[in-house]
Amino acid sequence: MSVAVPVAPRLLINGELVEASDKKTFPLYNPATRELSANVPEASEDDTNAAVAAAKAAFPAWSATDPAKRGACLKKLAGLIRAHNSELARLEAISMGLPVSRFHYGHSAAAHLDFYAEAWPLIQGQASVNTPGHVTMTLRQPYGVVALIIPWNAPVHFFASKAAPALITGNTVVVKTSEKAPLAVARIAELAREAGFPPGVLNVLSGHGTPAGQVLSRHGDVRALSFTGSSRTGKLIQQEAARTNLKKVILELGGKSPAIVFADADLERAAQQTQASIQANSGQVCMANSRVYVEKGAAARFVAAFTKRFAAVRAGDPLEPGTNHGPQADEVQYRSVVGYIEDGIAGGAGGTLALGGRGTLDSTGGYFVEPTVFVDTPEDARLLRDEVFGPVVSINTFETEAEAVAKANDSEFGLYAAVYTANISRALRVAKALESGYVGINCTSPLTGRDLPFGGYKGSGQGREGLLYSMSNFLETKSVIIQLDGE
Ligand code: NAD
Repeated sequence: MSVAVPVAPRLLINGELVEASDKKTFPLYNPATRELSANVPEASEDDTNAAVAAAKAAFPAWSATDPAKRGACLKKLAGLIRAHNSELARLEAISMGLPVSRFHYGHSAAAHLDFYAEAWPLIQGQASVNTPGHVTMTLRQPYGVVALIIPWNAPVHFFASKAAPALITGNTVVVKTSEKAPLAVARIAELAREAGFPPGVLNVLSGHGTPAGQVLSRHGDVRALSFTGSSRTGKLIQQEAARTNLKKVILELGGKSPAIVFADADLERAAQQTQASIQANSGQVCMANSRVYVEKGAAARFVAAFTKRFAAVRAGDPLEPGTNHGPQADEVQYRSVVGYIEDGIAGGAGGTLALGGRGTLDSTGGYFVEPTVFVDTPEDARLLRDEVFGPVVSINTFETEAEAVAKANDSEFGLYAAVYTANISRALRVAKALESGYVGINCTSPLTGRDLPFGGYKGSGQGREGLLYSMSNFLETKSVIIQLDGE
């Protein structure tokens, strides 16, 4: 179905779809064409406080509701999201440029909602008789109002993977979407009204980091905050939380993921998968392998196979089904990525340019960046240290296993690392040595095991998310000790 532009999304506060209280909106442009896609409400400080107040008021009844009934709302929303998958795909395409051919998030979000709808029997404490004369137990209970601040690169996924576990455990929720991609989740907010959530249980705000995100980070009635986004913003949120009510903070942050390719690996597979990893969402994926280390003897063959594939992307209108490479999300992202590339080219600071190297705004009218490959990038280059968040990869070489591991670990990030080799002992030795929350052996990101925890070492975050893990993020643990008479 087509989407009529400009879209006029609303905030969801206390069960009502409303404009910002001061009527303020901001324009959102299609990054492929720079045409106006939407006028988006900018949630004010008052709106944010109103959403938190609504969530606080809804908490006692929602947390006391039979969890199976809470689950029924999640299930209903899952069905509605599935039914609107192609509309959500188009809304993402016209906001942050993800090709509709690559949008699978409606189905993955629905799967999360379905899973958590039935996961409530897993909300369990423990009991013991290890304290003589007493029985002891723990109770797992919701925090109260939970804030969820999500990024723009996969909003529908992050909405569901955070809101579903928070809601099924009895918390009430305020979601803050990214200013770069608020449309799909604003549509889900409309669907949520049909799903039967009582007013105030689920609130959705659009707007910039300031004021809405900042107010949530500081708010005394927000007891837990789950954030996915950049390391820079994660640190600001952590500071605000520490300065105010010490709310629990879960952080899923940036990455600079390495892939190590030994000469005995299936080089074709390694090239195909590492290329797909950095191409996905035009390189705007937290776990994209933006650094590839190849054993010296295999480097020339690997670079040839990699660049051949990377050069063959089909860039174009994200709304066209044949497109598999969209623009960067907006002008800020575009200028930032092009800046890194230009820095890398200038004086050879980023090594040797083997493919691409240009932004094509002038010729295409959209924020497209050519797939770009540097080889032999100096380890201290900005290009290799920072998260570029674009279709830009550095392919470097190593001679020994120890050197490969040392280079891979020489980063403040630690989200996802990959190792390709036919030698199982080496694969596991390297997996053990990598400072990374995730390791792919003979595979790489964005592949993840569906029931594994996800999260970062070092500057890539704190805490873990995942089907079996996220409910714990939203449950307090209370210890209860009972003295027995007559023992
Ligand atoms: P961002 O940090 O700029 O913004 C994320 C969210 O935080 C947005 O909703 C934004 O409005 C809000 N925000 C901005 N300033 C704020 C403030 N001062 N207080 C509170 N909220 C504020 O990140 P982004 O550009 O939207 O997303 C890209 C980043 O997210 C990349 O670094 C990427 O690696 C990371 N990411 C991490 C994961 C993961 O699971 N580890 C997944 C996806 C993306």
